[in-house]
Amino acid sequence: TILHIYESKITKKNMMNDHLEVDLKELRETFNSGKTKESSWRIKQLRGLLRILEDREDDISMALKQDLGKHHVEAYRDEIGTVVKSLNNALDNLKHWMAAKKTRLPIAAFPSSASLVPEPLGVVLIISSWNFPIGLSLEPLIGALAAGNAVILKPSELAPTCSSFLAETIRDYLDNSAIKVIEGGSDLGERLLRYKFDKIFFTGSTRVGRVVMSAAAQHLTPVTLELGGKCPAVVDSFSSSRENNITAKRIVWGKYGLCAGQACIGIDYVLTEKKYLPNLVESLKRYIKQCYGDDPNGSHSISKIVNKKHFSRLKSLLDEPMVKSSVVYGGVLDEESLFIEPTILVDPPLDSAIMTEEIFGPLLPIITLENIEDSINFIKARPNPLALYAFTENENLQKRLVSETSSGSLMFNDAILQYVVDALPFGGVGGSGFGRYHGKFSFDNFSHEKAVIMRGFLVDFWFRYPPWTTQKLQL
Ligand code: NAD
Repeated sequence: TILHIYESKITKKNMMNDHLEVDLKELRETFNSGKTKESSWRIKQLRGLLRILEDREDDISMALKQDLGKHHVEAYRDEIGTVVKSLNNALDNLKHWMAAKKTRLPIAAFPSSASLVPEPLGVVLIISSWNFPIGLSLEPLIGALAAGNAVILKPSELAPTCSSFLAETIRDYLDNSAIKVIEGGSDLGERLLRYKFDKIFFTGSTRVGRVVMSAAAQHLTPVTLELGGKCPAVVDSFSSSRENNITAKRIVWGKYGLCAGQACIGIDYVLTEKKYLPNLVESLKRYIKQCYGDDPNGSHSISKIVNKKHFSRLKSLLDEPMVKSSVVYGGVLDEESLFIEPTILVDPPLDSAIMTEEIFGPLLPIITLENIEDSINFIKARPNPLALYAFTENENLQKRLVSETSSGSLMFNDAILQYVVDALPFGGVGGSGFGRYHGKFSFDNFSHEKAVIMRGFLVDFWFRYPPWTTQKLQL
C-alpha cells in the first residue's frame, strides 16, 4: 500500500510537471505569435481586469473576509479600489507609455536619429503573498500586461479563497492562452522556478527571496524582489495638541488598520523621546479604543491573524519574559478566532526577537531615546527599511532623515499613503528588496527599453577606417 501511495504521488507530480510544461509552451507560443504586443490586446486584458473588479466586487470582499477577516471597507480601500485606480491610470496612459522616445545624439553622429523603444520581456512569472492577496497579485499583473508579456501568476496558498477566485475569474475574463493562474504552495513555487522565465516578480519574505534569486541566476533571469523588514516611525513632540492627536491617530491606523499589522509597509515600531512617552502612550490608547472599542475581539474593524502558524509566531514574540513585562496595553490573544488585541510595548530588549525580526502583526514596540536625533543612528544600524515614517515639524531632523538614512520610501507626518501614488515608485532598497513598480514604473519593470539608432549615408568620415596610415595619425 505504501508503494502504491508513493507511486500515485510520483504520477501526480509528473502529471503536474507535464501540465506546467504544456502551459509554458502555450504561453511561449502565444508570446512568439506577437499578439500580446498589440496595444488593442493589452487594452482588452486591462479592461477585462477592470470588469472582474466591477462585476465581482462582492465576491472579492467575501473572499478577503474569509481568508483574512478583512472588513469590506478595508477590502475596497486597500485592494479593490486601489487596483481600479491603477487600472484606470494604465488605460489612460498606455499609448503614451508604449510610444518610442526620441533622444539626442552628438553632432558628430549627424545624420542620424535615436530612440528608446519599449518592448515586452516575454513570458514572466509573478509570485505573490497572502496579506493583500488580490492587490499584490493584480498590481504587478497590470504592469506585465500593459507591457505586453505573457504571464504565469502564482498567488499565495495562505489566502486560498482569494487564490481560487483569481484562478477562476482570470480564466473567464482574460486571454487564457497568454495569462495563467497556477495555484499551489512552496512545492509549486519551487517547481516553477526550475523553468526559464524572462522575468520573475516576487513579493514575499527575505528567506524565499533568496531562493527565488538563486534559482533565477541559473537562467540569468532578472528579478524584482518586493520583500519585508521592519518599518520604523520616528515620533517627535509637536507644539500643539492638534498635531499630537493626529499623529497618534495615524500611528494607530498605520500599525493596526491594515490587515491587523500584517502589512509590509505597516509601522513596525516607534522611536520617540523619553519625555514624550507618557503623552504618546495615552493618546495611542485613546485612539485604539476609539477605533476598536472596549472589546476589539468583537469589533469587525480589525482583521484576524492569517493562520495558526503566524498566530503562534506572534504569541512566541510576546512570550519572552522581558518582552511580556514591557506590555503596557493590550496583550489579549484568542487562538480560536485567531485574534490578537492591538498591543503596545515600551522598551522591550533590543536583542529580543520582537526587535530583531519583522513583527507582521498588531504588536507595537515603542523604543525611547534621550534625544529624537538619536533615531538616525538607530535606523542606520539596522537593515534598510521598505518604508520609514517620521512625525516631526523639526526641519533639521527632516533634512537629516532624507540625507542620512536609506529606505524604499520616506514619508513625513503620515503613513502608508505612498503606496497609492502612481507617480511614485514602490519598492525596497538593500534588505527590503530591489526593483520598483506602480504606475509607469510597473510598465518599465516588465519592459526592456531597446536603444534604436538610425544612420544615414550622407556623411562618411574616411579616417575612421584602417589602415592607420601616417596621414591618418597626423589628424
Ligand atoms: P513567503 O515568502 O512565505 O511566500 C511568498 C510566496 O512565495 C507565496 O506565494 C509562497 O507560496 C511562495 N513560496 C514559498 N516558498 C517558496 C519556495 N521555496 N519557492 C518558491 N516559492 C515559494 O511570504 P509571505 O508569508 O507570503 O509574505 C510575508 C512576507 O512578505 C513579509 O516579509 C512581508 O513583509 C513581505 N511582503 C512584502 C511586500 C512588498 O511589497 N514589499 C508586500 C507584502 C508582503
